[in-house]
Amino acid sequence: MSEWIRPRHLPEALEILAAAPGSYRVIAGGTDLMVESHLAPERRSDAWLDISGLPELQGLEMTEDGIRIAAGTSLDEIRRHAEVVAHWPMLAASAAVTGAPPIQNRATLGGNICNASPAADNAPVLLAYGARLEIAHQHGPRWLPYVDFHQGYRKTALQAGELLSAIWISYPPKHSCGYFRKVGTRAAQAIAKVSIAALIEKDSDGIIQSARFGMASVAATPCTLPSVSQYLLGRALRDISEADVRHVVRQDIAPIQDIRSTAEYRLEIASRLVLEAISMCRKSKQED
Ligand SMILES: Cc1cc2nc3c(=O)[nH]c(=O)nc-3n(C[C@H](O)[C@H](O)[C@H](O)COP(=O)(O)OP(=O)(O)OC[C@H]3O[C@@H](n4cnc5c(N)ncnc54)[C@H](O)[C@@H]3O)c2cc1C
Repeated sequence: MSEWIRPRHLPEALEILAAAPGSYRVIAGGTDLMVESHLAPERRSDAWLDISGLPELQGLEMTEDGIRIAAGTSLDEIRRHAEVVAHWPMLAASAAVTGAPPIQNRATLGGNICNASPAADNAPVLLAYGARLEIAHQHGPRWLPYVDFHQGYRKTALQAGELLSAIWISYPPKHSCGYFRKVGTRAAQAIAKVSIAALIEKDSDGIIQSARFGMASVAATPCTLPSVSQYLLGRALRDISEADVRHVVRQDIAPIQDIRSTAEYRLEIASRLVLEAISMCRKSKQED
């Protein structure tokens, strides 16, 4: 017989986790876990901790330097939120292409990244925005840059007794342009073959001041492109060469071949997407 516990507040949930480390499977929207229970019954849990009713894990809140999104907020709420649409349009876009509306009603942002799929749609965007994670534990919270969260295939930095409580995102730099693109087999309900998010900041002369990228489906985890960022830093947009970009992209990713795509296809598309992001930034107007 399986056990299903639905605590009413976060401290209660943390207490349950601390009392029996590793015993409960945390479930939020259940859109990943319910599928897994059917496809891999051997991994099905007998003890569930349902966090979907915790008020502390719900909602979006504007902060001094950006936004705090509680981990259990649905992707539907995120994609419709006026401040998200205005200031973090890449996140509104990635939430809107995660599955389809029925999934977005249940699926949470926290679940999307804690599930730790290399193809998670919102991961590249959070990497490009330089998000920070707030992680709750019975003995108090800790903060972690999102870039340090994914530690291997389906492995995260969450420790026993911890829950992801919120995702914090700062306002993007004033003169920055964002680019998000998901390449899949269909327009909806498709797992990404490759996806990218880029946030590129330039000055009035077109010199790149910062460049952050996130990609999915090109490595064992969602990843950044440190060599590409380094190559772009301080360079004039007009001086960027396609050959150089292709070269540095190869230094950063090692795509796999699977049922959705070949490694060569992913590498080629990844290079093209990086070039497209740079091209969009070149065309974007400098706004004061
Ligand atoms: C038909 C269908 C289509 C889909 N399409 C896409 C798609 O296009 N792109 C995409 O990225 N995903 C897709 N998904 C996967 C899924 O919907 C998302 O990953 C979703 O965001 C998961 O959120 P959830 O709340 O449902 O997670 P759950 O299934 O509840 O949990 C997922 C994992 O995260 C852990 N977890 C959840 N919340 C927390 C927390 N606060 N702290 C610690 N651990 C936590 C759980 O223990 C579990 O390991 C699809 C799923 C389905 C069924």
